[in-house]
Amino acid sequence: MVEIREVKELPKREEVRVGFHTHIKGLGLDEKGKAKKVADGLVGQEEAREALGVVAQMVKEGKMAGKGVLIVGPPGTGKTALAVGLAKELGEDTPFVAMGGSEIMGSQRKGELLMQAMRRSIGVRVKEKRTVYEGVVRDIKYRVSRHPFNPYIKVPREAVITLETTDDRVTLTVDEDIAVQLRQLGVRKGDIIAIDAETGRVYKLGRAREESDVGGIKLVREVKVPEGPVKKEKEIVYTLTLHDLDTYFAAQQAPISLLAGLGPESVTDEVRKQVDKMVSEWVKQGRAELVPGVLFIDDAHLLDLETFSFLSRAMEKELAPIIVLATNRGKAKIRGTDEEAPHGIPLDMLDRLLIIRTRPYTRSEIEEILKIRAEEEGVKLSKEALEKLAEMGEARSLRYAINLLQPAYTIAKMNGRDVVAPEDVEEATRKFVDVRESVKYVEQFKDKFL
Ligand code: ADP
Repeated sequence: MVEIREVKELPKREEVRVGFHTHIKGLGLDEKGKAKKVADGLVGQEEAREALGVVAQMVKEGKMAGKGVLIVGPPGTGKTALAVGLAKELGEDTPFVAMGGSEIMGSQRKGELLMQAMRRSIGVRVKEKRTVYEGVVRDIKYRVSRHPFNPYIKVPREAVITLETTDDRVTLTVDEDIAVQLRQLGVRKGDIIAIDAETGRVYKLGRAREESDVGGIKLVREVKVPEGPVKKEKEIVYTLTLHDLDTYFAAQQAPISLLAGLGPESVTDEVRKQVDKMVSEWVKQGRAELVPGVLFIDDAHLLDLETFSFLSRAMEKELAPIIVLATNRGKAKIRGTDEEAPHGIPLDMLDRLLIIRTRPYTRSEIEEILKIRAEEEGVKLSKEALEKLAEMGEARSLRYAINLLQPAYTIAKMNGRDVVAPEDVEEATRKFVDVRESVKYVEQFKDKFL
């Protein structure tokens, strides 16, 4: 049976790009809050991870109200990675938003940008009875077309997917919106998924690994294969952010602003108030739960007095994300003043912050991180190539070594190899320089051309 259906517009989830940190699944702590050497995708940095474990516990007990976190340490020592770990530790669906000090300071509408960031970092977990198509993915095929602007990217235009339960089997043709979600979630044969019949939202429920055989595929049990019909009513839990709801309702209420080309960004304070009211109503009715997330601001020494007072006020609010600042500066001038302060942060703000240090990595820790990243990016490395990269990471920087993974792999393939060899790493380091080198290089010509 084939069903073709149209899907109406749903609030688009704007994923924050944390591609660099997708390997991180938590803080990697044991039951006593002690850091395991390598766990949840994190390596080393034990003190910082354990300190964040305490923060996570305080958040759960409501004891972080009015407080924030400051992570200090040299570049590339995992400040961002640890903030991601904190968010994941609080729950898989905890929102995480990362911004940089210069991005905030460069904005023409700082207040609006920060307000939006706050609302992106607060989740609303909603429970609803929905009609869904649910089952084990038996087969999935994409029809792709080229990206409208970027010819190097192929986008799925639609997908044909066969879902199976122990009793039923349905083949669906789904539109682009759903196909894109399936692709993003990395849905493959053997996954158990549910697709909302009305909104088209896709939920990945796990993988079926059942020893029994479902229509010929041998499966080892992990998530139980659903029973009954593929199309059914089911209680679904999903998490949106306040910002998702803001844009959704702004778009619904303001067809005129949409026609005027203002787009859903035209979220007004009025809309935000209405959303807050609606959400608190849902919470009262037990239909929703609020999930404070993590708002991470790197290069906090670049922020000015006005921004710090905005953040202070935000921390005071009843509903606030956990604000995690990071810097690699010691003493610095507070922007917008002539005053020097520790980390360029005003004292009244510093008083609210729990300060955590990160330290430089050892060679073997760098090697471990590179191994995890290589696996995440699907790069195959020989033992010697990994050692060579780790050496690079120690001598130059971790970021540089991570950045070389893909080029080294491409070079290996051009050299007719399937696995990166040390020669490929060397070739990559000759072709691509690190930042310190690139700066030194152009500096040496400065006198000549001035
Ligand atoms: P910083 O924010 O201090 O400049 P990042 O968090 O951006 O450093 O770290 C650089 C890269 O190394 C990122 O891809 C990050 O995910 C990874 N990374 C850093 N520290 C760790 C760690 N302890 N375990 C695993 N990966 C890490």
